[in-house]
Amino acid sequence: MSRTGPQAKTVETRIVVLGRPGVGKSATVVRFLTRRFIWEYDPTLEFTYRHQTIIDDETVTMEILDTAGHQEDTLNNREGHVRWGEGFLLLYSVTDRKSFEDIMQIKNYLDEIKKARNVTMVIVANKCDLDHLRTVSTEDGERLAQDLACAFYEVSACRGDESIEEAFHELCREVRRRKAMEGSKQNRRRSSIQQMKQVLNKTFTKINNRQ
Ligand code: GDP
Ligand code: MG
Repeated sequence: MSRTGPQAKTVETRIVVLGRPGVGKSATVVRFLTRRFIWEYDPTLEFTYRHQTIIDDETVTMEILDTAGHQEDTLNNREGHVRWGEGFLLLYSVTDRKSFEDIMQIKNYLDEIKKARNVTMVIVANKCDLDHLRTVSTEDGERLAQDLACAFYEVSACRGDESIEEAFHELCREVRRRKAMEGSKQNRRRSSIQQMKQVLNKTFTKINNRQ
């Protein structure tokens, strides 16, 4: 069966892009989807995009929620978004130290809403074309990603690096891996319940036969 045929299985992945206002969330999402850079994007606009692509021979439909909010509002009213999302792309700007510090706070919030083991994320450091304005080093970003056990990418939505696509694709892969692990755990649980039922049935049959 052709994977691109009408009966091909499509995997849906819900992605939420989070990060301090102004770090380039919209620019990065739009760059990923259109391969273009838009200098000014309505900072209050929150939008969900649908995008279909092939990752490792599998058709994946991504729903990407580009969040928006005020400066101190990165996490307010985000609970619904977090519950909805399956994978989180946490973005900061290498020119904004505060946005880097926010990442830990966002991660803690995700852990609070979902259970920590259910949080699938990648960290993306944007605006690395502005090297002269850097306040966050590559090593800082790498160390944080290592501490949080997730993938890390330095990108420039402005320049348009391949690593933007790589970050979105890796996040989808991570979501798929987690779902597969959850699925096999559930199957194991189901089969042990099944075994228990069989044992109980046999025991009751024996008791009934004795009567
Ligand atoms: P958001 O609030 O996180 O969605 O940020 P935007 O995507 O609206 O971007 C905020 C500002 O940063 C805009 O003026 C963009 O032109 C600029 N910007 C976004 N990404 C980059 C980048 O990679 N390099 C540079 N130099 N500017 C960027
Ligand atoms: Mg925006």
